[in-house]
Amino acid sequence: MTIDTMNLKTPYLSLCEAFYNETKSDPLEEPYLISFNPEAAKLIDLDESSANDPLLVSLLNGTFIPKGVSPFAMVYAGHQFGHYNPWLGDGRAINLGTLNGWNLQTKGSGETLYSRSADGRAAIRSSIREYLMSESMFHLGIATTRALAIIGSKTKIIRNAVENAAVVMRMSSSWIRFGTFEYFYYNREYDKLQELAEYVIAESFPHLEGDDDRFLKMFCEVVDKTALLIAQWQGIGFNHGVMNTDNMSIAGLTIDYGPFAMMDDFNFGYICNCSDTVGRYSYAEQPNVAYWNLTMLAKALSPIIPKDKMDKKLEEYGASLYPNAYIKVMCAKLGLLEELDTDATLVEELVIALHDAFVDYTLFFRTLSVYDGNKEALYDISMNPIAVDKWLQMYDERVKEEKTSFIQRTEMMLQENPKYVLKNHMLQEAIVLAEKGDFSMVEQLLHIASHPYDELPEFEHFAGDTPEEYKNIGLSCSS
Ligand code: AMP
Ligand code: MG
Repeated sequence: MTIDTMNLKTPYLSLCEAFYNETKSDPLEEPYLISFNPEAAKLIDLDESSANDPLLVSLLNGTFIPKGVSPFAMVYAGHQFGHYNPWLGDGRAINLGTLNGWNLQTKGSGETLYSRSADGRAAIRSSIREYLMSESMFHLGIATTRALAIIGSKTKIIRNAVENAAVVMRMSSSWIRFGTFEYFYYNREYDKLQELAEYVIAESFPHLEGDDDRFLKMFCEVVDKTALLIAQWQGIGFNHGVMNTDNMSIAGLTIDYGPFAMMDDFNFGYICNCSDTVGRYSYAEQPNVAYWNLTMLAKALSPIIPKDKMDKKLEEYGASLYPNAYIKVMCAKLGLLEELDTDATLVEELVIALHDAFVDYTLFFRTLSVYDGNKEALYDISMNPIAVDKWLQMYDERVKEEKTSFIQRTEMMLQENPKYVLKNHMLQEAIVLAEKGDFSMVEQLLHIASHPYDELPEFEHFAGDTPEEYKNIGLSCSS
C-alpha cells in the first residue's frame, strides 16, 4: 500500500459526538522528514518506499488527508498529580483513523478544542524522544504505542527556549485512557460510560464481546495488564515520570512519553521529572501510583460495574498480581527458572545492594549474565563492591538450586538483560545533532533500539556506564 491508497476506518466516529471533536491540523512551515520507521510501516502494510514519497511529509503535516478521513481530537479528563482536571483531551494530537488495528495519530499538529492555553505543538526534542523510545520499549518486550515517522519544520515554538516544532505520527492499538472514563463519570454521563466500555471491549478485548460479565472482566484484564506493565518498567529500569490517569492506557500500554528516563546508576527513589518535587512519580512509587490510578478507574466505572467486585480485584493487585509479576520479571533477569519461596528476599536484597553499590542498572545485569563465579567484572563497574559482594554470595547459593547449566543460564540472561537501552544522554546527543540538521544519530539510535540484546561492535560506546555529568538527571516536563 502507498500513502495515497491508504484506506483508514474511523470506528471512533461511530461513537456520539460527546467523545471527540472533528478538527484539522495547522500545518508546520517548511516541513521535512527526520526519520521513517520501516518496522512500523510494515504493521500497517505501508510500502517501505513511502519513506521517499513526498506525500509522507504531507500526511504528517496534515496537508494530505487520506480519502474518507475526518480528522478528530478525543476528549478525556484525568487526575494530574492527584488533582482532578475535568477538561483535558488531545490538546495537540489529531487522529486520522485505524489501519490494520492501528490507530494513527499526529502529535504536535496544532490547537484543538482541548488545547486549553497551550499551543498545540511539540518540540523536535520531545518528538525525537518519543519516536525512539517507543521503538526501544517495543523491542524490550514492553507493551507500548509505536511511531511511524517524524517531521521537523521551521515553525518556532517557545518552551524553556525558542525551539523548532515537529510532528510525530504515533500508532496505537488504543488511545483510550483511564481519564476517558473519568470524563464521563464526573460529568455523570453514565450511558456514555457504557458506550465507551463497549467500544473498548471491541477495540482491545474482543474476546469478551457478548459475555454477560464483560465490563467486570474488562476491568480485571486492565488490572492484570497494568500489573505486568509496571513490573516490566521496574525490571527494565524505566521511570515514566508523569503517571497521571490521563497517561494510563486502558490497553495496558506505555503511552505519552514525556520526561521519562532509563535508570543510569540504580537509585530506588529516582525522580526523572524535575517538576515532581515530592516524588509522586518516582521509580520507587510507580507500582503504588499505578494502584492509585486503578482505584480512580474503578471509581469511574462504578456506575456500570459492581464496586465490591472491582475492589476484590484491586486487593489482588497489591497482594499477588503486582508482586508476583515483579518477582517473575526479576527472576528471569537473574536466570532463575525454579520458583523458590526465598526468591522474593533475594530480589529485595538485590534492590538494596544495587542502590548501595552505585552501579549502572543495565550494565549490572548484562555483566551478571556472563558471571561465572569470578566477581572482578561486577566489582569493576560498582562504586561500592562490598554491597554487590554480599548479595553475590546469596546469588551463588541460589543458583545451585537451578537445573540449568551455566551456558544455558547465560544464553537466557543475555536475552533478558539488554546490552542497549536509550539513556537520556544518548537521546540528547541525537537531539542536539538533529537540531543542527544532522539526523544520522536518530537513525543510529533507531537501529540500536531495534536490537537491544545484540552485540553491535560499532555501537559499543553506547553500552557502557553513563558519563558522570549525565547520570540520573531530572528532565523538564516542557515538551
Ligand atoms: P501530558 O501529560 O504531556 O501527556 O499532557 C497533558 C495534557 O496537556 C493533555 O491533554 C495534552 O494534550 C495537553 N498538552 C500538553 N502539551 C500541550 C501543548 N503544547 N498544546 C496543547 N495541549 C498540550
Ligand atoms: Mg498525556
